[in-house]
Amino acid sequence: MKVGYSYLAKQFADPDAILADIKALVISGDFTLGKATVEFEDKFAKLIGCNYAIGVNSGTDALFLSLKALGIGVGDEVITTANTFVATVGAIETSGARTVFVDCNDKYVMDTSQLESAITDKTKAIMPVHYAGQPVNMKEVMAVAKKYDLEVIEDACCAIGASFDNQNCGTIGTTAAFSLHPLKNLNVWGDGGVITTNSKEIKDKLHLLRNHGMVDRDHYAEYAYNSRLDSLQAIVGNHLISDVEWITQQRIKHAQTLDLAFKGLSQVITIPPKAVNEKCVYHMYMLLVENRDALNEYLKSKGISSKIHYPIPLHLQQASQHLGYKLGDFPVAESQAKNIITLPIHQHLTADEIDYMIKTVNEFYL
Ligand SMILES: *Cc1c(COP(=O)(O)O)cnc(C)c1O
Repeated sequence: MKVGYSYLAKQFADPDAILADIKALVISGDFTLGKATVEFEDKFAKLIGCNYAIGVNSGTDALFLSLKALGIGVGDEVITTANTFVATVGAIETSGARTVFVDCNDKYVMDTSQLESAITDKTKAIMPVHYAGQPVNMKEVMAVAKKYDLEVIEDACCAIGASFDNQNCGTIGTTAAFSLHPLKNLNVWGDGGVITTNSKEIKDKLHLLRNHGMVDRDHYAEYAYNSRLDSLQAIVGNHLISDVEWITQQRIKHAQTLDLAFKGLSQVITIPPKAVNEKCVYHMYMLLVENRDALNEYLKSKGISSKIHYPIPLHLQQASQHLGYKLGDFPVAESQAKNIITLPIHQHLTADEIDYMIKTVNEFYL
C-alpha cells in the first residue's frame, strides 16, 4: 500500500466544473482584480468572520504586505518563533525589519511566556504562527501587544478554520496572512494568498500596496508592488471554499484516530497536548518520536510519505547568521527538530490507509 502526502490527484480527479469557469474567464479576459477575485474575497471574509479579505499573490506576500501596510521596516524588530516555515522570517527580513526569535512550546507554537523578555524599544510587532494549524495562545499575545502597544500580524498560512477561545485565527490580530498554496487546507492551482483585517484604513492601504499604488488608472498615490490574486486562482478558490468545513472535519477526525492509536506507544511517541479552547485544523500532523530518522526511513520503505518539518530551526540557518543566534538559544525548537515527524493527514486518506500507517508505526517499535 502507498500512503501519499499529496492528495492533489484525488482532489482534482474531476476538474471539469472549474475548467468550465476558467474557459469563460479566458474568453472574458477579466484576468486581474476581476469579478472572481472580488467574489472570493467576499466569501473568504465571511468564512473567517472578519470585515475585509484582500487577495494577494501568496501567503508570503500576505505577511510582507501586512508589515508594509503597518509601516514596519528598517530599524524595527518583529518577534516570531524559530520553528516555522522559512517564509515567516523571509517576509520580516525582506521588509527590512529584524527578526527576534522566541522558543516554541510542546504544541510546536510560540511560547508566549517568552514574549516580554524579547521586547526592546525597537519592537514594533509580534508575528505569532499558528503552525501546522495549531492556534497560538492569542489571549497572551494580545495582552502583551496591548501592554507594549505592538501590532500583531497572525501567520495563519496553515490555519484556515482554526480558533482560540472561539475566536477564529485571522480575526484576532491587526492583520493575518493566509496561504492558498496547493498543499494548504484551502488550495488553488498555483500560488495565492489572502490578508484579513477588520480595519478599513488598512484594507484601503493594502489595496494600494498590492496594485502599484494605483488609486485609478491615471493616479498613483505611492510607488508600491504588484501582488494580486489572479482571477484564475480565485475561480479555483471559489469552487473549493465551501469544502473547508468538510476538509477541517476530516483532518480532525483522522488526527483523533491517530492520537488514540499512538497513545499506547507513550514511551516512544509524544503526542502534543490538547486544550478544549484551541481548535487545531491539522494542516500537518506532527509527533515527537524516538529514533526519528530510522522511523522516517522505515515508513518510506513501506510506502508511507512521512516528512520532517523541519530538521534545522531557522535561527541556525545560514540565512540567519547576521541575527547572531547560536545552538542552545532555543532548546525546545532544537530538540523538536531532532525528534519531530509529520505523517500524512489529508482529507482524502481512507480508513485502510490510516490503519496501515498505524500498523506500520507499531511494527517499527514493537
Ligand atoms: C505556507 C506558509 C507560508 C507561505 O505561504 P506561501 O503561499 O507558500 O507563500 C508562510 N508561513 C507559514 C507558516 C506557512 O505554512
